Amino acid sequence: MIDASTLTRLRSIVGASNYFDGPEDKITYSYDGTPLLNQLPDAILRPQSPAEIAQVLALANQERFAVVPRGSGSGLSGGSVPTENSVVLLTNHWTRVLEIDERNLTAWVEPGVLTAAFQAQVEGKGLFYPPDPGSAAISTLAGNVAENAGGLRGLKYGVTKNYVLGMEVVLPSGDIVLLGGKNVKDVAGYNLKDFLIGSEGTLGVFTKLLLKLIPKPETSRTMLAFYPKLSDAAETVSDIIAAKISPAALEFLDNMTIRCVEEYAHLGLPTDLEALLLIEVDGHHAVVEEEAALIQQLCRKHRAREVKVAADAQEAMRLRSARKVAFSALARVRPTTILEDATVPRSEVAPMLERIQQISKKHGLTFGNFGHAGDGNLHPTCLTDERDTAEIHRAEQAFEEIFEEAVKMGGTITGEHGTGLSKRRFLEKLTPPPAVEMMRRIKESIDPNSVLNPGKIFSLKPRCEGPLPKSREVIEKFLSQGAFT
Ligand SMILES: Cc1cc2nc3c(=O)[nH]c(=O)nc-3n(C[C@H](O)[C@H](O)[C@H](O)COP(=O)(O)OP(=O)(O)OC[C@H]3O[C@@H](n4cnc5c(N)ncnc54)[C@H](O)[C@@H]3O)c2cc1C
Repeated sequence: MIDASTLTRLRSIVGASNYFDGPEDKITYSYDGTPLLNQLPDAILRPQSPAEIAQVLALANQERFAVVPRGSGSGLSGGSVPTENSVVLLTNHWTRVLEIDERNLTAWVEPGVLTAAFQAQVEGKGLFYPPDPGSAAISTLAGNVAENAGGLRGLKYGVTKNYVLGMEVVLPSGDIVLLGGKNVKDVAGYNLKDFLIGSEGTLGVFTKLLLKLIPKPETSRTMLAFYPKLSDAAETVSDIIAAKISPAALEFLDNMTIRCVEEYAHLGLPTDLEALLLIEVDGHHAVVEEEAALIQQLCRKHRAREVKVAADAQEAMRLRSARKVAFSALARVRPTTILEDATVPRSEVAPMLERIQQISKKHGLTFGNFGHAGDGNLHPTCLTDERDTAEIHRAEQAFEEIFEEAVKMGGTITGEHGTGLSKRRFLEKLTPPPAVEMMRRIKESIDPNSVLNPGKIFSLKPRCEGPLPKSREVIEKFLSQGAFT
């Protein structure tokens, strides 16, 4: 627990109306979108300026408590779940788009702008911000940058890191720095902003972001292809890539997911399919028509039973929703939904799905699978019940085997959701030890007292002699109780 006098000082830094420590406040901010993880914070702070964040961090270093930055809390790896002895630091109330610079194709935004709201605003000016996580309607841009979020358009357009040009950031020391800028080229020294992208709130707090925009594609074409056999869907994906087409979306759903989506959204999907592909191409009108025609041919060549092509924007939205609602549809089946994002080279998608099926069967579990087939980013989703400890144990074993299998195939334990708390032990097990040690050294050099989001990505292993700093000691004790293992 943070002592009462330190809490009083925190309250005076942010002001009484931006300080919350009631039981209902603590419970509200004790979890994010990740199942099985929660911890009460000691208080929640809504700072009004970067300078206030700097003061909070200075006090954290002095009194050794932890500070956990938080956007919308939609994260799926426990990144904004509080640790013991911590305060939650909100940035989702800063929601202004500060500048859209049409001459440089950039935008300065505050950290709490919602992804979809930003996309809509720039599209109104004929511009485009491609990163498109499934959570775009609720996630903040700072949360996206902190997780290096991916999404449906990753195959053609890349992920969040490809669109971050600069940032204002408060470092754990309390220093406020500006990294990057509007220059298209800039190689002066280490590329520090890229260290911060995907750092999951462990290296700095974003207070402004400079994002890259591109011209909005002229048109798009959306298709759904229905496959009696999963292997035929996988072959289609390989052939589309081999035909040198980069679709804006190339997504798949397996049979379990299709059935849940149909029951939930009533889109008229056949429920006897082994797989469904959602394919979208965008760009210049003539190119889009040509690519859409070729894709339909490839789908039929690989025995798609039917290919539905959206006639207009409204139908495209309807077809897209088959994929967009996948998570919500699966989440209705059992009380607890564990959604992961094991990722493999795209050539390994079909074998990996087969292994996931074998592993879930072996452990007697129910899995739905969907994901970004075009970039090998799969979302094996276990439908379970956290009150059944034996089943949860089997689910944990199954995921361990799934991650091991992904790494064996040249893949990774997470393609877009981050490591956070939920995948920390897999990162430590499956990443070469010198690489994990390098990450620890980076963290230690920037945040020697581990005040900023400690214990995320990797555990805190104190290597210094002598008594431990207070926050580490408390957190190590907490973690050694096996709370997150
Ligand atoms: C239905 C659903 C679909 C999803 N689909 C996708 C998807 O397609 N692709 C994908 O990549 N993810 C997806 N996600 C995961 C999640 O939405 C993303 O990780 C998102 O980027 C989190 O944003 P957030 O604002 O909710 O951040 P939070 O969950 O609040 O925080 C995420 C991390 O960012 C850090 N953070 C937050 N604000 C700041 C700040 N100002 N400065 C520094 N660090 C900060 C936090 O400490 C934490 O480590 C999905 C989640 C859900 C629930």
